[in-house]
Parts: sequence; structure tokens; C-alpha cells
Amino acid sequence: MKKGKLIVFSAPSGSGKTTIVHHLLKQKELNLAFSISATSRKKRGEEVDGRDYYFISAKKFKKLIKKDKFIESEEVYKDNFYGTLKKEVKRLRKEGKNVIFDIDVIGGLNIKKKFTKKALAIFVQPPSLEEMERRLRNRKTDTEEKIIERVAKAKKELDYAKYFDVVLVNDDLEQAKKEAYQLVLKFISN
Ligand code: 5GP
Repeated sequence: MKKGKLIVFSAPSGSGKTTIVHHLLKQKELNLAFSISATSRKKRGEEVDGRDYYFISAKKFKKLIKKDKFIESEEVYKDNFYGTLKKEVKRLRKEGKNVIFDIDVIGGLNIKKKFTKKALAIFVQPPSLEEMERRLRNRKTDTEEKIIERVAKAKKELDYAKYFDVVLVNDDLEQAKKEAYQLVLKFISN
């Protein structure tokens, strides 16, 4: 069976990338499977272990890094580790699935560097920092301190947009979903 391709969505949090990724996963013809990351951060809201993330302790996370079990991993926020497990991607590609990632900017570029032409790296850009902050507040899942931390990180992340294959501006979610669909369809058809 032909090995699947990799589609990476990276963006500051609050850019709407998770919504876009979930929308694409529903389109069966794209044959996508979500790469479930491991994280040491606490579960939030309705999240489910083994569906949204593999929730593990920081201690276990560090052990897995030592054992070289990750394709990439980052301390995205202080004391909160996130990483893509080699095993996860291998399993999904072997099934012939195209693997879709919802990961941070540095992680996304690391995947692109490793898989080159097999990977499409898409940067989802929020219309403005103010709008992004508004979305984070509306989500009501983060504390004030976390929101401030996320906005500060977003400011730095916007500088990385130029290194991605595509920049998708999300000022109209429905439009962004359509564009994302077309981009993925074209990439997997080649
Ligand atoms: P959240 O805590 O909002 O779920 O995620 C915080 C950030 O970490 C988001 O930008 C998310 O995309 C990113 N992230 C999730 N999984 C991974 C991963 O496996 N590797 C990296 N580098 N970032 C990740």
C-alpha cells in the first residue's frame, strides 16, 4: 500500500486551526487521520485521553524524550511539553492514511524539514492579534494568565509564517475551511 502523506496545520492558539482540522477530518474522501500528540499539560474541558491527546506526566514525557520516541517535541509553554510520537505517525501511514497534525509553529517546521515533499505545511493566520485574544477569551477554557502567555507567544509565532508552504488567513471561518479543503485535496492528489 502507498504510504500516506503528511499535512501540518500550525498557528498560534486562537487562530481557528483546530476547528479547520476537525472540519477536514470529517471529509472522508481526504482519507485523513489525526496525529494524536502526547502532552504533559492538564486535560481541558471536554477533552478525551487518546482522542485529543495522550495525556501523560512531565516525568514520563522526559523519559520518552530520552528514549528517542518523538519525531519532534517542544516545551510549548513553561512546564507543558507537547510532542509527536514516532509510533503514532508510523502506524497511521502504514494504514495508508494521510496524517494531519495540529501542532505549534516550531514543531510544524520540524515535521516539514524531516518529511520534505511528503509534507504540506500550512500556517493558519488569525486576522489580528486582538481578534485572536477575543477568541481565546470566548473559548473560556484558559485562565487570564494562560491567555496572556498565549498572546505573547502568538506575537513571536507570526514571524514564522513565511517559512511555511502556505499561509491561510482565517478572517472568515467558512471561507478558510473551503480553502483548506482545496489545498489538501490538491496535495494528496499529486
Ligand atoms: P493546546 O494546549 O491549546 O492544546 O496546544 C497548545 C499548542 O501546542 C498548540 O499550538 C498546539 O497546536 C501545540 N501542539 C499540540 N501538539 C503538539 C505536538 O505534538 N508538538 C508540538 N510541537 N506542538 C504541539
